[in-house]
Amino acid sequence: MGLRLYNTLTLKVEPFSPANGNTVRMYSCGPTVYNYAHIGNLRTFTFNDTLRRWLRYRGFLLEHVMNITDVEDKIIRKSMELGVPMEQYTRKYEQFFLEDMATMRLEKPERIVRATEHIQEMVDLISTLAQKGFTYESDGSVYYRISKFPSYGKLSHHDFSGIQAGARVDNDEYDKDDARDFVLWKQRKGAEPCWDAPFGAGRPGWHIECSAMAMKYLGDTLDIHTGGVDLAFPHHENEIAQSEAATGKPFARFWLHCEHLHVDMQKMSKSLGNIYTLRELIDMGYSPEALRFVLMSVPYRKKLNFTLDSLKGAQSSIERLRNYKLRLQSGRLSDGLNESISELSRFALHKFEAAMDDDLNTAEALAAVFEYVRETNTLLDQGVFVAGNRAEALQLLARFDQVFAVLEPTMTAGLLDDSSIEALIAERTAAKKAKQFSRADDIRNQLLEAGIILEDTKDGVRWKRK
Ligand code: AMP
Ligand code: ZN
Repeated sequence: MGLRLYNTLTLKVEPFSPANGNTVRMYSCGPTVYNYAHIGNLRTFTFNDTLRRWLRYRGFLLEHVMNITDVEDKIIRKSMELGVPMEQYTRKYEQFFLEDMATMRLEKPERIVRATEHIQEMVDLISTLAQKGFTYESDGSVYYRISKFPSYGKLSHHDFSGIQAGARVDNDEYDKDDARDFVLWKQRKGAEPCWDAPFGAGRPGWHIECSAMAMKYLGDTLDIHTGGVDLAFPHHENEIAQSEAATGKPFARFWLHCEHLHVDMQKMSKSLGNIYTLRELIDMGYSPEALRFVLMSVPYRKKLNFTLDSLKGAQSSIERLRNYKLRLQSGRLSDGLNESISELSRFALHKFEAAMDDDLNTAEALAAVFEYVRETNTLLDQGVFVAGNRAEALQLLARFDQVFAVLEPTMTAGLLDDSSIEALIAERTAAKKAKQFSRADDIRNQLLEAGIILEDTKDGVRWKRK
């Protein structure tokens, strides 16, 4: 049936393919770099990664842009409180964010772009909107006139026709009930960072950066725009109003929103103070791949209630898969090929792919893989799973891991459990047998970095912790 995605714009699951050729032009709202990302933020970024990986699995190429919001109300307030220049303050958290992305095995978008390096593009876009009559100035700031854009509300499916023309809001964030003409350019205030513009020195409002950067790199109409569900209003509604008023064309064909991660049934957010960061979880001894597994185990449009127990469960699920892989790689199997097991393998792969094609149903995709593992483990016990079936089972795991990316253990001292070490040693032995010596050396070195010493003896490989 092909890939289908839920589109917030139409409230429907629709068949997806890029508008032009084979390349998907995609934009994701990135982090506001004023603090460490919490694992709620990471849920949304892991969803972006799942989408990226599945699009690539399906043979598409990607032109994916993510912004870094490095000028914004909270950033300015915090950096001024600390007396640190804004750039110095944001670069630090940007770096932490990029490190967290790498630790979580999140693929890097083709471009990661900073708001402060695109002020001119924002000024130009505001000037275009001004020429077309979509803006007005008040007290030195520039506002977007919502009443000029009749389809305002089409993404959040809210009727804004009754809102009072000329009422303004300067905050970057507000709710639907508070919708008013929003600010595009804020007049210079005190010692706040500011830039020159034809409409006076000041700084951009938050919403204009994504319109300007998305269209600069991806053209007027994107294939996919993503973000967390809280961004649909006002941020994405405002992006549509800005971009479509300027170009007269649809801004994005598909809008995808990731539901929130909750803790104790409440949204995880910095303002509620109920947050976990990736670093805290790692310090508690949990592996990044366990968090990845938890975040991916619930389809992105469902709320996910986070608990430490779910992380423990994920850890043991991953271990089950690693042990299974080890068993396939190193178990002694009789010769031959069992055709009914091959049929089972094809069926499992089909179920896995069909689930992912169905708006990235990661829960069902996982269920298909675990069912196969359970069934074939039994067949291995019974001795009916034979050598000829080994490759197809390993291939299923490899396909699964192209998207889930949890099978390789993280090489951090203290995080490698015995079965992961054994699995790596088995892989090294297999690589040596296949004369892939550089892969074998890589594994030895990776283990060494994680504090594991290997000793090749005539009875096989022994290992110990440093
Ligand atoms: P921010 O750094 O605050 O701009 O947020 C970065 C991304 O995380 C945005 O796409 C938000 O929508 C998303 N986000 C914020 N809180 C949560 C949460 N509790 N669960 C999932 N996503 C979230
Ligand atoms: Zn954005």
